[in-house]
Amino acid sequence: MSIVKNNRITLVSRFTSILLFLAFMVIFAPIIAHFGHALSPAEKNAEKGEVFLEISHFEEDNKVALTHGWMFFESQLLLPHEVAGLRQQANFIQGVNGWKFKGQKGNHLNGFGTYHLTIHLPTEKPNLAIKIPQIESAYRLYIDDNLVARGGQVSDVKSTAKPGYNSKIILVPNSKDSFTLTIQVSSYHTAWGGLWTPIVIGNADDMFATQRDLVALSMFILGVLTITAAFYLIQFYLRPTEKVPLVFACLCALLLLREFTNEHMLFVLQFLGVNFVATVRMNYLTFYLGVPTVLYFMQLCFPQIFKEKVTRVCYLISGIFSVFVLVGPTQVIGYSLLSYQAYCLVIALYLIVCLCIASLKKLPAAKMMLLGCLILSIFAINDILFEMDLLATGRFFSLGIVGFILCQGYVINNHFNQVRSRNEALSEQLQQRNNELLQLGSELESKVEQRTRELEKANSELQTLADFDQLTGSLNRHGMQKYLQSSFERLRRSNEPSSIVLFDFDNFKNINDSYGHNNGDKILKSAVTITKELIREQDKIARWGGEEFLVLLPDTEINGALAIAEKLRLAIDEQLSNSIAAEVPVTITAGVAQFQHNEIFEILFKRADNAMYKGKRMGRNCVQS
Ligand code: GH3
Ligand code: MG
Ligand code: MG
Repeated sequence: MSIVKNNRITLVSRFTSILLFLAFMVIFAPIIAHFGHALSPAEKNAEKGEVFLEISHFEEDNKVALTHGWMFFESQLLLPHEVAGLRQQANFIQGVNGWKFKGQKGNHLNGFGTYHLTIHLPTEKPNLAIKIPQIESAYRLYIDDNLVARGGQVSDVKSTAKPGYNSKIILVPNSKDSFTLTIQVSSYHTAWGGLWTPIVIGNADDMFATQRDLVALSMFILGVLTITAAFYLIQFYLRPTEKVPLVFACLCALLLLREFTNEHMLFVLQFLGVNFVATVRMNYLTFYLGVPTVLYFMQLCFPQIFKEKVTRVCYLISGIFSVFVLVGPTQVIGYSLLSYQAYCLVIALYLIVCLCIASLKKLPAAKMMLLGCLILSIFAINDILFEMDLLATGRFFSLGIVGFILCQGYVINNHFNQVRSRNEALSEQLQQRNNELLQLGSELESKVEQRTRELEKANSELQTLADFDQLTGSLNRHGMQKYLQSSFERLRRSNEPSSIVLFDFDNFKNINDSYGHNNGDKILKSAVTITKELIREQDKIARWGGEEFLVLLPDTEINGALAIAEKLRLAIDEQLSNSIAAEVPVTITAGVAQFQHNEIFEILFKRADNAMYKGKRMGRNCVQS
């Protein structure tokens, strides 16, 4: 009954949580979709030499990427007015990635140069602005002859050049029909200096709004990562033996650092005061260390699937790359990125295959983990294809991370839940065992009590057997001695002296021989009956051994005792001799003795025994004292 009820409660709470999650998604979906819009790229407008923009460019998409057709002067830092005279010497860059300082030979530029572009605007236009994206090298940007933006220190000598970073949105003079953009750049410090995405021109209001959305998205991601990292660090603090929360918190911290160094480099550089080269190293390191951390996390969650040998090799490779990024020259470390990305692809495949196996084996939370990895991989592949100009989607990796974190959060909580359920089951079992043990204990106790009672009963029966003679039912010698031990002192000190009678059958061997042993036994039994009839209640008779009896007569003087002995002798003779065909008479000889003052029992007995033997010697069938 209660199981059914419990199941119903579980179902209801599961249903409620799914509903709440869906409600959460419904609220957040438009926000996330809006972020996605902010991330979507500009239309590329390819023109050679100069760019002629029309009003339709701004109406349709609100922004235009200025990618092709820039003039490029290698190893020359030219001011805008100097460019006009040198038009003949200029090269023209091709494609979005031309910005990575590619000269005509297609090599990366390690040095300096000037880019120049003339932009013709339509007569009717909205307020326009230019967005300069991440430029990971020193630059100076001129609109016509005015220096409007700069980052780092541009120089034709490496020693005086300083790498910098400054992403900006700049308003374009609205009154003009055309203007020029001149960018001087110098890059000595990183392999991938230059623009990562093209310079974009568009509606100023939309551009600022997009910028605001991007900052909000980044803040959202930073918030998710910070809260998740803090939450799992607290979990680890509360349960230091569990490694999973710690590893997960480390992963979140790495992603947090990556987001900071990717999207908020200016903040890291200017407000945290970290220098450019260290920031670049940090950025690489977050990626290089993130891979083994994810792998270690997976291994902790599915130790039966992830082979330790494979993961160890991966840790080693990632370790080598990380050390290289930490200490290698900054101009070179960028070149490791491609090989690390390829290596990453292999790891991602390995992860997905392992997780597929785990899902097929129906390991708990494996499907959710697989979903997380798939989300991350899809977003990563999207970004790579976008970088390669093969997709026009935009950068979504950060959102992929949020999805991944959500899935992993489920996996960790599932892990904890399992541990908790196992503990609950164990403690229930323990409780059950405890109850059983208690029951067994009480059963044992009552059994011991019963056994003790039985033993006591058997003991008292044994006692009875030990104290009484089985044949005649009278006390035996042992019983009489016990009785004497408890009452002898009282008898000895009594005012009225007490006596004993010791009697023995005469020639009993002959009786046995003549009438058989059974008849002999009967005679012994009858003797006791006869004696008991003659004596008082306080008197005691005991079979002292064989056919010899002792009668204790408290408060009886010797004469009284002699009289009783005599009566007994006559009664036995009369009754027992008659009871059998008395060719051999059944008679006894008795010895009587009275307690002397301070006499011990042995002496008293000896006197009675002597008296009896005196009687035997005198011809038997008599009483002596
Ligand atoms: P005495 O007059 O000198 O006492 O002669 P006795 O034959 O009685 O000699 P004694 O006392 O030495 O012998 C005792 C005999 O009593 C020996 C034994 O066979 C017999 N007897 C002892 N206990 C029992 C018993 O429980 N049942 C029977 N039927 N006979 C017993
Ligand atoms: Mg005898
Ligand atoms: Mg005898």
